[in-house]
Amino acid sequence: MEATARGSWWGKVLFADVGTGETRVEELDRDAVRDFIGGRGLAAFYLFKNLPAGTDPLAPENPLVFAGGPLSGTSCPGSARAALATKSPQSGIYTFAITGGELGPALKKCGYDVIILTGKSEKPVYVEVGPNGVHIRDAAHLWGLDTQVTQELIRKERRSEDIAITCIGQGGERLVPYACLINERRALGRGGAGAVMGSKNVKALVIKKGGKGVPLGDPAAFRVASRNATAQCRKHPFTSGPLASFGTVSTVAVTVNGGIMPADNWQRMAPPELGKQLFGNVLREKYLLKDVASGDPCPSKCSKLTVVREGPYAGSSTEGPEYETIYALGSACGIYDLGVIIHADMLCDLYGIDTMSVGVTIAFAMECFEKGLLTIKDTGGIDLRFGNADALVKLVHDAAFRQGFGEKIAIGSRALAAEIGHGSEAFAMHTKGVEVGGYDPRGAKGMALVYGCGPRGGCHHAGGYTVTAELSNPNIDRYADSGKVPIVLYSRNRRAAAADSGGTCAFLTVGMEDAVLAEMIAAASGDPMTAQEMIVAGDRISTLERVINVREGLRADGDLIPSRLITDSVPEGSTAGHTVDWDLMRNEFYVACELDPVTSMPTKAKLAKLNLEWVLDDPTVASLVG
Ligand code: SF4
Repeated sequence: MEATARGSWWGKVLFADVGTGETRVEELDRDAVRDFIGGRGLAAFYLFKNLPAGTDPLAPENPLVFAGGPLSGTSCPGSARAALATKSPQSGIYTFAITGGELGPALKKCGYDVIILTGKSEKPVYVEVGPNGVHIRDAAHLWGLDTQVTQELIRKERRSEDIAITCIGQGGERLVPYACLINERRALGRGGAGAVMGSKNVKALVIKKGGKGVPLGDPAAFRVASRNATAQCRKHPFTSGPLASFGTVSTVAVTVNGGIMPADNWQRMAPPELGKQLFGNVLREKYLLKDVASGDPCPSKCSKLTVVREGPYAGSSTEGPEYETIYALGSACGIYDLGVIIHADMLCDLYGIDTMSVGVTIAFAMECFEKGLLTIKDTGGIDLRFGNADALVKLVHDAAFRQGFGEKIAIGSRALAAEIGHGSEAFAMHTKGVEVGGYDPRGAKGMALVYGCGPRGGCHHAGGYTVTAELSNPNIDRYADSGKVPIVLYSRNRRAAAADSGGTCAFLTVGMEDAVLAEMIAAASGDPMTAQEMIVAGDRISTLERVINVREGLRADGDLIPSRLITDSVPEGSTAGHTVDWDLMRNEFYVACELDPVTSMPTKAKLAKLNLEWVLDDPTVASLVG
């Protein structure tokens, strides 16, 4: 197919069926690029178009859609970003994942804008995409290997350093519902895309970068905007300060001191005298090997390569752990030892499973054990009390391999609570089957909407992020239930558009002004865009994600938060005495987003405002719009 390259786009979408080996190239939808920017937005668009309604997430028809953004692989700060969208085996609805590392630049240099994998191979394979088309290669010798050995062997046999490898580990092969893809040491986590790839018998996607540079719409304007963005990041107190020094671990001090870092499966908040053992200065002093960037260029280098130097886990090394991992494998399980957390984080990356989901499910099982809902016989002899580091490490391993009591951890907290019953559902800390991030909404109420109404379940990223505003802006009452929707939506829409779809790093965008972000995207893509249009595009992307979810079965009664947050308060600290008025908050969100109170589908008027009327061509969607 002859396609016309324009701006940052080659104009080509590659479809590869790994079952039949058939491939085809279609022309990129230019209207979609204008409306959805790229990355997460473009991947959601192609998922909507190519996912038959009601498809089983592990069926061959469920597509894995990879897309870069206009900024991916360029010289702007934080530009090594790529996105993936699919139907989640964990939640049963839409999910997406974002990663830094080699994947984004490779996607932009390989000559295709979007890569869509469908089908199921009879035998293990890996898929190689490059300037010379698609090759489906035998991967029998890679099946059973962890993500690092897999990447080493593929690199050796392809005799090339100029490739990006995104692969699954043992978790994805065994269809753990929260399995990830790993690209270098970085995870495409949340929602179980690794299990989708495993269900196709695909061990890896290998992209050859080829000789192509990353195309730009207006290179001169891009250089100016990119320089301004870098200068702003170098000046901003967050991106030049705690982010650069401690990475996301800097957040531990904020949440511990603010009384919102969950401990012991959210029965209490991390006590300061224990929480401080997880602070960024401890990580730097005891465990840091070096500051690294998850993709060049980055003025902050927030990724921390760490190593355990002594004790039972000496020699373990990881890139991280990030804040969410420290919460899930640490305080949520009553563990305040960064050495243990580094080791468990390393195992998760090797086996390709989501640190947050496995950690929060273990925390849930620990509470069940302490309450007598699980016995030592149930756990196969594991003393599953909070704080037991050996139990945590064993269960991370056994969950990935689906063995022993690890099989119960592998199914996630929603399914495990359904098996255990006896009221345990009230303290299974997930929304829509996806375990929640590490910020207690009882002390930062906006996060309730982020978890409860976000597009991919209990995620702290996709539905917005309100912690900084709520804890540091004196004009915002962090404990107020009412009035949080504008903060949530601005953050949600900005992230969806500028970072996840534009193709740059969400952390660095904290330091950049909206106008500069819009200028960079416009100059790279070649499509004009104002700051206001960028925020509207974020609303459009989030609204399309909602439409996909409703088409896949979500209804208003599925927009929920764990009931513990509604009924129980924590015993001490600054969050003590507070609970979430969920009905009030959800109602305000539904009114602002123009969602039907029963189906949760956006109204026709809302779809029209966002230039999304075309979704009504889908009969399932049309039948659900009032
Ligand atoms: S700030 Fe951190 S996550 Fe963002 S690009 Fe730099 S190293 Fe990567």
